[in-house]
Amino acid sequence: MRVYSIPMRTRFRGITRREGVLVHGPAGWGEFSPFAEYGPAECARWLAAAREAAHDGWPAPLRDRVPVNVTVPAVGPETAHAITAASGCRTAKVKVAERGQDEAEDLARVEAVRDALGPAGRIRVDVNGAWDVDTAARMIRTLDRFDLEYAEQPCASLEELARVRRRVDVPVAADESIRRAEDPLRVRAAEAADIAVLKVQPLGGVRAALRVAEACGLPVVVSSAVETSVGLAAGLALAAALPDLPFACGLATLSLLEDDVVADPLRPVDGAIEVRRPEVDEAALRRVEIEDGGWPGRVAAAAEFLDAPPVIGAVGR
Ligand SMILES: [Mg+2]
Repeated sequence: MRVYSIPMRTRFRGITRREGVLVHGPAGWGEFSPFAEYGPAECARWLAAAREAAHDGWPAPLRDRVPVNVTVPAVGPETAHAITAASGCRTAKVKVAERGQDEAEDLARVEAVRDALGPAGRIRVDVNGAWDVDTAARMIRTLDRFDLEYAEQPCASLEELARVRRRVDVPVAADESIRRAEDPLRVRAAEAADIAVLKVQPLGGVRAALRVAEACGLPVVVSSAVETSVGLAAGLALAAALPDLPFACGLATLSLLEDDVVADPLRPVDGAIEVRRPEVDEAALRRVEIEDGGWPGRVAAAAEFLDAPPVIGAVGR
């Protein structure tokens, strides 16, 4: 077990360093990097994903490249244009509804991104649940002037997403609404989204995520949890194993980190990432390795939930 801590280029989810554990097994390296706020029961799924990577490996890929999107943060239009143009990606995810900004700023940003991509590029907006139903319906229609591929998590709750979905023609994607394996089925049952954003670690591994994708029946966008190339490889494996992959994936997140643990990081070239599994590089890992950081304890606590005997065995004694 090796612990890493890598500075982030930009603050994300309130954190400035990304930390986690790399485990090695007969099938290769796996990553366990749940965010700090997750407790042991939730972390057990993240650990299951790391164990699958290290011990079982992944299903055979059906494709050798995975198209990815560039993410445009809530920046001004000139910067948004520059980020999009420099990315080489043909799909952009634009952050909107940033606290403290007004709607004109969202419009100017999306317009600049459309200008950078040209008419053939695809634009999705990510709202992170910030709008109410009326604002979402109005803003999605307004922003659709620049031709939206979909709107990601326009509102916080499933019930609101379902109402927005009935009021606009632009497809709705669920991201924050999906954190556990049973969530996509709830999304489907509530008719709350047209697209499911899935991440490997919180769903418990590539095979578990494939089962979730099949059970919910919605088209899937695979996204990262902002991992090193070890964790990203699992996301790529999921994207490569899905029978259909109609949308670019959110796996171009290595640019958020200052460093990596492999010599040949999983970065996009020409808007896509090659499906492969880079080896951990000892010199790279030593650059970012820390002693402990509390991680062995988190692994042990999560493992108890993973390996817990059926509760029924303890009942009735
Ligand atoms: Mg999102």
